[in-house]
Amino acid sequence: MQQITILGSTGSIGQSTLDVIARHPDKYRVFALTANKNLTLLIEQARQCQPDYLVIADRAELPRARGMADDAGLDCQLLAGADALDRVASDERTDTVMAAIVGSAGLLPTMAAVKAGKKVLLANKEALVMSGKLFMDEVQKSRAQLLPIDSEHNAIYQCLPGDFGYGKLEDAGINKILLTGSGGPFLNWNKARLAAVTPEQACCHPNWNMGRKISVDSATMMNKGLEFIEACWLFGARPEQIQVVIHPQSVIHSMVQYRDGSVLAQLGNPDMRTPIAHALAYPQRIDSGVQPLDFSSMTDFSFRLPDYDQYPNLRLAMQACGAGQYATTGLNAANELAVEAFLQGHLSFPQIAAFNEAVLEQLESCPLTSLDAIVEFDAQARAIAGQLLNKMVA
Ligand code: NAD
Ligand code: MG
Repeated sequence: MQQITILGSTGSIGQSTLDVIARHPDKYRVFALTANKNLTLLIEQARQCQPDYLVIADRAELPRARGMADDAGLDCQLLAGADALDRVASDERTDTVMAAIVGSAGLLPTMAAVKAGKKVLLANKEALVMSGKLFMDEVQKSRAQLLPIDSEHNAIYQCLPGDFGYGKLEDAGINKILLTGSGGPFLNWNKARLAAVTPEQACCHPNWNMGRKISVDSATMMNKGLEFIEACWLFGARPEQIQVVIHPQSVIHSMVQYRDGSVLAQLGNPDMRTPIAHALAYPQRIDSGVQPLDFSSMTDFSFRLPDYDQYPNLRLAMQACGAGQYATTGLNAANELAVEAFLQGHLSFPQIAAFNEAVLEQLESCPLTSLDAIVEFDAQARAIAGQLLNKMVA
């Protein structure tokens, strides 16, 4: 029986994870669930899977959460705060940690799971974008098993040779990783229309049903930019070994091109339960609840290369990837503020990328070789971004 901690159980990935787990009560048991604000859903999830621990982000909410847990007749420990997240991520009674908190809040608990040598299912791409080499070094040091949940990276993982490990792409006969993306809901929109995009439009992805932050990132293609950086770290790729390809149907989830001309792809319906089931059961295969592809109804299958004028955030992320860890950590911080400001109506859709670029220009290169240095640099970048935002909004 695998004992599982789900960091961010009330989110889109968290809920899909619980859906897959519920299909296999003989294989998986939930050890801990964690959430930020949605206590009602957290308690409902706990009622269904009876975990040992529940963790909430805000200590001030503990009394209310206790009352709700008592009313639901729950028999589990209730904890709060960042330390408690680290504790359930590294507890010796848990084998597998699903890292599905959104944004930088996921960095420390995900790192705690890595350092404790867990099987880590990585959805929280921002954690890897922020910490890059340090994260991968810790994985190898602690012998944690790292399995990508992001559908593209999970697809690439499935298309690599089984014994690839932390080898070199060229040694495995690989020329290129082809990172596919749908192009988001505004693929064919012109600049005038983009200026008037609302948060509701940006959060309505044509193929995937996701949390609000990643939905906005998909619309600006910052998501593909973060994934570009994520792929460099996960697969030891140099930036020139990764090519972004737009594939609006989201059926191919990414591809690997070999030296002999072979291109291996992973296909499936756009439903995160497939990569979640793959990673949970790896190297075995389990039922995920996802419908099989219906080739009789797939009429259109198209590809094009991205236009960087249309998606300036993608260009920025690729440039930051080349510039180094300070730039990717800083860009991630700026982007988290920009997306939140857009969702609250303080920035327009095109201003997200302009804001990110302006913050990046103010950051100074510095080495980030420890977790403390990364956390401090992230805070500095947020302070710079916050000042700029105040000026733009005033
Ligand atoms: P979401 O917004 O639906 O859920 C986020 C979860 O994180 C929630 O459980 C929330 O309670 C928790 N959380 C948020 N802020 C927190 C804080 N400060 N402290 C503690 N917990 C906090 O997001 P999502 O769409 O499920 O995405 C989660 C992660 O997975 C993101 O990093 C995203 O990039 C990645 N991802 C998501 C998808 C998808 O299809 N949704 C696909 C690939 C990768
Ligand atoms: Mg993805």
